[in-house]
Amino acid sequence: MAGEVRISRRDLGRIVSGGIAVLAGTSRAGTRVLAQGTARRAEGSAIPVTFRLSSNENNYGLAPAAVEALKSGRSYANRYGAESVGKLTEALAKLHGVPRDHILLTPGSGEILRAVTMAFTGPDKKLLAASPTFEAPERTARATNAAVQAVPVAPDGTHDLRAMAAAAAGTGLAFICNPNNPTGGVNSGAAVREFLTACRAAAPDAYVLIDEAYYDYATDTAYETAVPLAQADKRVMVSRTFSKIHGMAGLRVGYAIGHPDTLARVREKTSAGTLSSVSAGAALASLEDPAHLKRQRELNAEARTFTRKAFEHAGYTVLPSEGNFVMVDVRRESTLFQDLCRQSGIAIARPFPPLTNYARITIGTVEEMKKVMAIMLPLLSAPAPKTTLAPAGPGGFLLDDDLHGC
Ligand code: PMP
Repeated sequence: MAGEVRISRRDLGRIVSGGIAVLAGTSRAGTRVLAQGTARRAEGSAIPVTFRLSSNENNYGLAPAAVEALKSGRSYANRYGAESVGKLTEALAKLHGVPRDHILLTPGSGEILRAVTMAFTGPDKKLLAASPTFEAPERTARATNAAVQAVPVAPDGTHDLRAMAAAAAGTGLAFICNPNNPTGGVNSGAAVREFLTACRAAAPDAYVLIDEAYYDYATDTAYETAVPLAQADKRVMVSRTFSKIHGMAGLRVGYAIGHPDTLARVREKTSAGTLSSVSAGAALASLEDPAHLKRQRELNAEARTFTRKAFEHAGYTVLPSEGNFVMVDVRRESTLFQDLCRQSGIAIARPFPPLTNYARITIGTVEEMKKVMAIMLPLLSAPAPKTTLAPAGPGGFLLDDDLHGC
């Protein structure tokens, strides 16, 4: 049944005890791996990735309608301009109930984050953000010589919006990632509104970007989009992406919703004409299939609940998540767990300082998560290794997925 969680206590028990049955083999492999130090990273990369749970992608792939749109995109792929970009802008304006010129499309929403940070931070205009959060704005702020004020997230992984508002003086751009990557927490609509009022009092000229990359996955009823706030306040923008629930990460389509004057300043920092018309055609087709998106949301919620329960049943704490990923306290340096997973053909995310004992695991398909948990739990049951690895430098270890900042 759609949206229903089909995991029984018996299923969980089977996964945990089935896992223990294979423990001896995996723990021996694990010890050998740990003893080989840094070299094993290179060795590990030769093992094929069977389960890709590292970049918060949608493992179900594209909507069938988007696949068809890609095929018909062959007929106009040789042209610079195509009506698909205009039509997509029109459809998004309609979806959000805003005029067309309140939408700015870019190749991926990472480009929005970069351009917004370039536009509104500088040596005397700091970036205000949570820690940990999606790092693209912080990386860009280094290029504008802006100070970065990082406010630790609350213990449940949500933004501590009151602490952020209290630190708002001197802010050029406040970045709110809601749901937050990597923790998964959401702040309620009411809390975001309260933050805006307090932020305005402390920093009247500050711009605010609310990143809603994982909006479609959120099921918490207190969660709300900030699009109405972007309509009411010229200095507020919202970013969205087709990389997550639409499964189009490789096609690169993202956008911002905001006031035209504000978006004009952002557009100045983007490179013109870089959105693929074929990708725009696929995005439009995906948008026009709400039943597919609804199903994707239900499948993610089902697999997310299954994954959470399996970890909790085995005694591990999982942060509340409204995205297509979970953060699990693995009670050891998460790189050690990441390496063991990689040796078993499972790619999970790099660590996200300062939460280095937490592993971020993307929610794959329901079937994938059932198989993956049967492999992962025994890896965790092995005694926590004493050895830890030194991080490779700023930003931690660089794996393929890290290079595009997921
Ligand atoms: N925002 C958040 C919170 C993300 O997690 C990501 C990618 N993982 C992005 C923005 C950028 O995604 P894209 O450029 O593919 O739209």
